[in-house]
Formats: sequence, C-alpha cells, structure tokens
Amino acid sequence: MPPMYGESQESAISFISKLDLSPFSDPFDIESIMQYVDSVEPGNSAAKASIDIALHDIAGKLSKKPCYELFELPKVKSFCTSKTIGIDTPDIIRERTLEASAYPFLKIKLGTNDDRQIIQAVRDMSHQPLYVDVNQGWKDRSLALENISWLKEQGVVMVEQPMPVDMEDEMAWLKSKSPLPIVGDEGVRRLKDVERADNFYHGINIKLMKSTGLNEGLKMAKLARKKGLKIMLGCMSETSCAISAAYHLGSYADWVDLDGNIDVTNNPYTGIETHNGEFIDNNVPGIGLVNPESIWKR
Ligand code: MG
Repeated sequence: MPPMYGESQESAISFISKLDLSPFSDPFDIESIMQYVDSVEPGNSAAKASIDIALHDIAGKLSKKPCYELFELPKVKSFCTSKTIGIDTPDIIRERTLEASAYPFLKIKLGTNDDRQIIQAVRDMSHQPLYVDVNQGWKDRSLALENISWLKEQGVVMVEQPMPVDMEDEMAWLKSKSPLPIVGDEGVRRLKDVERADNFYHGINIKLMKSTGLNEGLKMAKLARKKGLKIMLGCMSETSCAISAAYHLGSYADWVDLDGNIDVTNNPYTGIETHNGEFIDNNVPGIGLVNPESIWKR
C-alpha cells in the first residue's frame, strides 16, 4: 500500500467492503465496473487498482490472451527495468550499486543536501546510465537547473519530479530550460492530471497504484502519446501481481522502473518476473499470474 497517498491495509479493506459488485455479471465490462468502483469514494487508488487488476486477469484468462493483446498492443521485445537505489550513506550506496551492476539502468533517489555525493558514490562503482528521482526535493528553480546540468554530465538521462507539485510556475520555467527530460510523478496521478502535464513535464510516470489500475493507466498512456509526452512505467513497493499487470503497458514505455517486487520479502505471487532487470514473458494469459488459485486457497 502507498502510505504517501493515505492508503493502508485497513483503508483498502474498508473501501473494498463498501463495494457491491453484484449488479455486474460481465467481467469484460471493465469500464462500467471501474466507473462504479471509482464513484463509491474518492482516493483509494491502490484499492481500486486491485479490482481493476483482478478484472483484467479474469478477462485475459477467459479469452486465453495476455492483457497486452486485449489492449491490441504489440508484445514488447526487449523490456528492462531499472533498479532503484534509495537515499543512504555513500558506503551503502556503493554497496547497492555494486549489487545492481547487472541492471541496464539504475534509478537514484536524490533531493538531499548531499545529492552530488550520492551520484559520486554511484559513479565510484558504475558507468550505468542513471534515472534520477528527486521526489519534489528541490525548492529553488535556478539551483534545480544547475543540478540538472551537472547531472547530465554525470550520465543521467532523465529527472523525475525535481520540484514540489504546487510550484507550477517554477516547474514550467525549469521545463523550458532543462537539458534533460523532466518526468512528473507526484504531479501526475490520474487521467485528469495528464491534461495539464505538458505545461510542467516532458513525460509522465504511470503507476497502477496511482491510476486505479490498467483501465485508466492505458487511457493515460494514450493521452500522453497524443500530447507528445514521454512515458515512464513505474511502481510502488509491490508484489509480482501488480508488477506483472504493469508489464502489459510496456509497449508504451520510454523508461521502465518496475522493480518494486524485487526486494519484497513477503511476495506471495509468481508472475512475469525479471532476471537482471530483463522481463521474461511467461505467456500466461491475463496479467501473467502463475497459479493464482494456490493463493486464493490459503
Ligand atoms: Mg518518483
């Protein structure tokens, strides 16, 4: 559950217990079901995503098709996730970087007073291209621009959410000057946010736990493309269930950060898994969950 958006196990159980899905008999009518689910209460995006993901898995398994085929999207050929390295001491960051040396990209969390030391620690161990996620951490636009220019010299290829969501004028200015693409994450949660996203960002980070699942996530991807925005596919800390679901939007992705299941120690699911960052499609219909029945029986 993403606590930063106010959700917990308790809030999810409470929300789902309010739903009455009995008027719906057609699991393929995901649009109507999700419209109803969304109307019951605002927020609860991850809880809503759980219904959406279950519906897509049912629809895919009944039609014997993977979800990307239901969406009439091509199968993605080479599809690799970055590995995220969180804020820590330079020693730990060097250790984590070494552990992630097989990944094609690293995603580095910044937004501290020691951002350059963090990048230096990564560069001590690795030449991998880097994504950087500032999580709204820079509050001064000139400093942000200076940082981005320096990061470009360090082999960074994009910067996620450099400034706070509500600093719109500063973000618009930064977008017009930035030598690297800027991607909105906290500032782009649902479809309505994509409408204005090109004022502040070159791209958007689509996460199923923000978008209420695949149905709206797909709409976000289509609108982003129409508006000329780049697309990052991202995640929270998630099980293989949600990561497998997100895989099916892969053909839209310019950047992929779907590593949320890798460090989860109580992940009950097996889905479309990765090896050194590369997704290995298991050709299981639906979202790609393997033997979900064994989970239901627990
Ligand atoms: Mg982010």
